[in-house]
Amino acid sequence: MFKLFKEIRETGDATVEYPFAPYEFPDGFRGKPEHNEKLCIACEACAIACPANAITMELSEDQSLITWNINYGRCIFCGRCQEVCPMFAIELTKEFELTVLNKADLGESCAYEVARCSCCGKPYAVKKEVDYVRNLLSKMGGPAATDIKKLDRCLDCRRLEDAEAFQLQARHRGEA
Ligand code: SF4
Ligand code: SF4
Repeated sequence: MFKLFKEIRETGDATVEYPFAPYEFPDGFRGKPEHNEKLCIACEACAIACPANAITMELSEDQSLITWNINYGRCIFCGRCQEVCPMFAIELTKEFELTVLNKADLGESCAYEVARCSCCGKPYAVKKEVDYVRNLLSKMGGPAATDIKKLDRCLDCRRLEDAEAFQLQARHRGEA
């Protein structure tokens, strides 16, 4: 018995003192992903990359809003969402005590407005994402700035417009 006590004393603590003392996190610890609603442009990259389907995007019935959702109950804390986010809008924190009494409290969500095509009126992209690209192009200036006016139209209308412009040019050259 004394030999055992001696060994225990010599070995020291083999476990951490948590929850009686704060847990000391190792570098790179991956805890709860924190989403920044203001920085997010609802590009969907995190939802596509999430291997556990913890992040989902949902279009409202009238297609006027898209909702970004996270279910912490599904999250496996892999960090893929943080890696792929172009806006640094999602970051894994050191928070790991996620216990809740109600399962519904394990989720968070926020909604973003959907832009409609100025030509055909069809919903085609998240408004915040379009505004972000518009802002980037205007900062770049030069030839990129000429694409800005195309941003408020859906892909189908832009294709149609390009095809018409191409036909017109061909006619001028006497090819059609
Ligand atoms: S940490 Fe991994 S599992 Fe959790 S939300 Fe991000 S991508 Fe999904
Ligand atoms: S990748 Fe970033 S910007 Fe895109 S939807 Fe996710 S959190 Fe938002």
